[in-house]
Amino acid sequence: MIDQATVQKILSAADIVDVVSDFVTLKRRGANFVGLCPFHNDRNPSFYVSRAKGYCKCFSCGKGGSAVGFIMEHQQMTYVEALRYLAAKYHIEIEEREMTDEERQRQSAREAMLMVNEWACDYFEHQLHDTQAGRDIGMAYFRERGFGDAIIKRFRLGYSSETRGALYDAAIKAGFNRQLLFDVGLCIDDERGGGYDRFRGRVIFPIFNVAGKVVGFGGRTLRGDKAKYVNSPESIVYNKRNELYGLFQAKREMTKQDKCFIVEGYADVISMHQAGFENVIASSGTALTEGHIHQIHRFTENITELFDGDAAGVHAAMRGVDMLLEQDMNIKILVLPDDDDPDSFSRKHTADEVRRFIDENETDFIRFKTSVLLQDTDGDPVKRSRAITEVVKSIAVIPQAIKRSIYAKECAAMFEVDEQMILREIQKYVLAKRDADWKRREREKAVADATTPPASGGAAPSVSEGGAPSPPASATSATEATAPSFPTSTADAVERCERDAIRLVAKYGMCYMCDTTYDDGVTSPTTVVEYVYNNTIFNELLPGIVFTTPVYKRIFDVAMEHVDGFYAELEQYMATLRAEGDVEVSRQLASLDVTGHTPDSIDNEEKKIRSAVAKQIEDRVGEYRANYLERILCSSPDDEVRNVAYNLVTDRYRLSKIHSLWGSVATGVDRLQSLVSSAINVWMLALLMARTREIERRIDKVDYEQGVALMKELANVKSIIQQLSKQSGERVVVPR
Ligand SMILES: [Zn+2]
Repeated sequence: MIDQATVQKILSAADIVDVVSDFVTLKRRGANFVGLCPFHNDRNPSFYVSRAKGYCKCFSCGKGGSAVGFIMEHQQMTYVEALRYLAAKYHIEIEEREMTDEERQRQSAREAMLMVNEWACDYFEHQLHDTQAGRDIGMAYFRERGFGDAIIKRFRLGYSSETRGALYDAAIKAGFNRQLLFDVGLCIDDERGGGYDRFRGRVIFPIFNVAGKVVGFGGRTLRGDKAKYVNSPESIVYNKRNELYGLFQAKREMTKQDKCFIVEGYADVISMHQAGFENVIASSGTALTEGHIHQIHRFTENITELFDGDAAGVHAAMRGVDMLLEQDMNIKILVLPDDDDPDSFSRKHTADEVRRFIDENETDFIRFKTSVLLQDTDGDPVKRSRAITEVVKSIAVIPQAIKRSIYAKECAAMFEVDEQMILREIQKYVLAKRDADWKRREREKAVADATTPPASGGAAPSVSEGGAPSPPASATSATEATAPSFPTSTADAVERCERDAIRLVAKYGMCYMCDTTYDDGVTSPTTVVEYVYNNTIFNELLPGIVFTTPVYKRIFDVAMEHVDGFYAELEQYMATLRAEGDVEVSRQLASLDVTGHTPDSIDNEEKKIRSAVAKQIEDRVGEYRANYLERILCSSPDDEVRNVAYNLVTDRYRLSKIHSLWGSVATGVDRLQSLVSSAINVWMLALLMARTREIERRIDKVDYEQGVALMKELANVKSIIQQLSKQSGERVVVPR
């Protein structure tokens, strides 16, 4: 574990331009640098790097981040791996924090497993290349499948000899612990103090995780055993639900082409790579899981699934795809000619032929499903309506309303039915799903509420309760289709207001906002973060406002945690600047040409020099304040905080021009004050309106006494709204 001080040292040493330059050729453009985006197929440079801001961003695909975020994304590393990478680059020695016993145990178990797997992978490769049996049996098999040397090396294919415990004996001799061999699944306990090899007499396909570490193995029999393939069992390094075979080798090409092919088995992946298609992966026999989708989503949203040409293949193509649609992936299906699988097909044809076949035959999934089902109906009206229902169900899970309506049109045309009818059917499923989602979320919320202790302020959250969404009315009109996401507009409005407030915190958190006089009579300068804190938790009209969106709350907490540290560092920084400023003033005074000057005019010159230097210092302090929190948030170890904060501060839709994002902070103090205070006012109004609606909704359903209490509360809420409107001195636009 890396201690916090070292993390800070690494983050401040990492120069974003320098870090990105290792992977992207950058050219200076004004205050920034630009280059071709490494995350998509970029023709015109759209990848911007700002040294002052400490981050990079592609204005085409949106990817980027701080130095640590960029390395994580580009090198597919974890947070800690990226920190180690940067530490090595800047020659920073890593001070390890003492791990807890549990961390140490888990860490060492994980490392030991990866180590023995790496050793075994080497061992199997050695068996394949350097033993008689390996060459005669293993290599002969690979050659027969058309695998060349380069591909065999790239996928580190191997061979395990027939001898019962050959690997076991070699591993024990190499010093590995017996239990470890069983835990990782390379060997099986023979209960007599020895062990035998799980993969004996098989050719070996090592399974790599996305970072290229060997996490497991697949072994194929060459003797006609009952089990054609044997795989490593699950362990703390190998989770079948997350690993995709070939992802490590395919990820670069997947990003570049913004597309991937999914096939069934190891040999299919390798044959396709051999044929020149490197964006190919396999789920290794299991159905795709959400974990798999998550992995794929990091590289592309476009998936083409390849299926065998037989009836079983077509049938398989129909299963599991709805989940992909639900995750907003674009799915195409390619059914190979009869009796072919990707392996045999790519061997029979040239790369060009394969490519042409793909281009001509890959079909959008909904279209594919419709045509297959349509063929099966044979004009039978019952079968036909069942088929329509099946297709409608698939369309209904697509999150985007616009995509749904396009498919509805096509489906209606193919089935030769009324489009409105299809739309109505889809709508039924969409609403049912929304209802189910809402109930699930309410259940989760109830569980969360029951397990979360009340906020320590105690005074508050009666108001924010009102923000809870009410269940959707199932009879809503068809216009609902254009508003794909629940919750209700009220909750949406509150979330939007919170987002505007947290954006200002993330962007300008440590900027000077105003002077605040506290209860004890002390007046002190206040940052935006402190101001937001003072005016939400201790809001005069409506005390106890808190962020209800969990990630915003976490961002705000991180900001508050850094206030003290910020002031301490600012003081140091200003001392340095002042010292530098003094040197600069003396330098300029010394080089001043005094001929023809009177003592008075020299005084004047000195004043000019001093005020120019003071202005420079002020600018640099302003920049320092403006960048301080952004940098911390965008380099946070919390994935969600880091990503959301990064999107908030670089949200291009919020900023009319790129210049305003990348230029220095031109926002004057006055403008900042009005932005922040109006964001808080609008947020308060949204909460009050939500509360009003909640009371109005409940008031008819309660008994007399409760009704009176609610009426009183309603009057109170309305009076706060009035005071708030008076305070802001203008007509208030009520958020909906
Ligand atoms: Zn890009």
